Amino acid sequence: MTAMRHPNLLRAALLLTVLAAATGVWSQAPKKAPGPAPVGYDDTPLIPGQKWRVHDINRPRPRMVTPAPLDQPLAPPSDAVVLFDGKDLSKWTGKTGEPHWKVENGYFEVVPKAGDLVSKEKFGDAQYHVEWMAPAVVSGNSQGRGNSGFYLMGRYEMQVMDSWDNLTYADGQAGSIYGQWPPLVNASRRPGEWQRYDIVLEAPRFEGGKVVKPAYVTLFHNGVLMHHHKEIVGPTTHRDTTPYSPHGLEESIVLQDHGTLVRYRNIWVRRLRAYDQP
Ligand code: MG
Repeated sequence: MTAMRHPNLLRAALLLTVLAAATGVWSQAPKKAPGPAPVGYDDTPLIPGQKWRVHDINRPRPRMVTPAPLDQPLAPPSDAVVLFDGKDLSKWTGKTGEPHWKVENGYFEVVPKAGDLVSKEKFGDAQYHVEWMAPAVVSGNSQGRGNSGFYLMGRYEMQVMDSWDNLTYADGQAGSIYGQWPPLVNASRRPGEWQRYDIVLEAPRFEGGKVVKPAYVTLFHNGVLMHHHKEIVGPTTHRDTTPYSPHGLEESIVLQDHGTLVRYRNIWVRRLRAYDQP
């Protein structure tokens, strides 16, 4: 039986539709409240060269290791390029203009929706030091909690995240090469405590529009080894893989505005030197 064969039924259906629209029955249907963030996926592409999918929900989570506290900032050595000395954001721009992040008490803090920060000076092969803090007041879960990012060359995200007692996918927790490699262990400190990354990057090399040497990264989180000369397989991407595309030998660092109140301080970089150079 269909409405078309029964004009009365059709009229009744039309009347109901008009009434519902007029009274806003449908438009006022409660919006679905935002649920908890996913802690992993099983429908994403395989990571090149690995048996795991991007953000694989079944990938083992690294075990916890308790690091030493970071009571004082690790002051830069004399040959470092200092990108934040506790005073101002003069070494940074916003992606679309001024760097509208909050500077106070020797650190700066993400202002949600103000956009990413971009370093004015560019770097490639180098040693990077950055200190960060996830918000002391915990809100959200998984990737919604204390999420920012330190993008080497503006493309390769070393994930900044509150990974203290926070279940998320292994390749998205603190110290991960986002979407590619989980850290070897989880050396996170509690939210509201300063943490640090010390990173050595070998930048990728390109010839004729193709990558001839991928990027390699070594990363310590709170002094604990997370990656030892690990190959980066391309720009890091949410739920996907992305092949390399050529870029310069040096590119800007980008700090991610992921909408949570992550703080940064004491950022400095030392370009790598060749051996036997005076
Ligand atoms: Mg991030």
